[in-house]
Amino acid sequence: MKFTRLRLTGFKSFVDPTDFVIEPGLTGVVGPNGCGKSNLVEALRWVMGESSYKSMRASGMDDVIFAGSGKRPARNVAEVSVVLDNTDRTAPAGFNGDDSLEISRRIERETGSAYRVNGREVRARDVQLLFADASTGSRSPSMVRQGQIGELINAKPTSRRQILEEAAGISGLHARRHEAELRLRAAEQNLDRVEDVVGEIG
Ligand code: ATP
Repeated sequence: MKFTRLRLTGFKSFVDPTDFVIEPGLTGVVGPNGCGKSNLVEALRWVMGESSYKSMRASGMDDVIFAGSGKRPARNVAEVSVVLDNTDRTAPAGFNGDDSLEISRRIERETGSAYRVNGREVRARDVQLLFADASTGSRSPSMVRQGQIGELINAKPTSRRQILEEAAGISGLHARRHEAELRLRAAEQNLDRVEDVVGEIG
């Protein structure tokens, strides 16, 4: 699977629809301070399911929507989509039927986010797991923030282990195990309640 396109509309400083074609090989983004280079990387993390507005340098998730400038009014909607080439059919199970995958996230002021994969509405969790299974994602070590190298050098061994697990592609399994454990605990509580009821009847 390869990233081939990134589209932004109304996201941070990208008020007009902007389409980035990602060619094979190394891509460099250059420009003067404040032109939006970090916003681009944040858009990529956001569409992969980032849930922390702080890591978007925002004070609420609505802050990723274009806030207006001297000449242009603020927008009420932001949308980012990323297109993945899946001709090698390496997309995780459940998403592997098509030659390309378009994952999009749209946010409306005071309404929250909605996600789609090839036009079909999905949960944030589905998108996060899709990327985790592909050994990437908004918190993946393949997305290196400014200052992150220093943080890694000073990190505790458990945090370093998380990085190795991400690289090995097993962090999605951990998330699924956690969900399964929660369901199991809920089932156990239901069983306890059933036993109470049976005891009362008996
Ligand atoms: P540097 O080289 O200094 O790191 P950069 O190219 O990475 O800069 P960014 O940090 O991506 O630049 O972009 C900052 C710009 O984005 C600022 O001009 C800021 O006003 C603008 N910006 C951020 N959020 C919004 C928003 N919600 N609406 C409009 N503009 C925004």
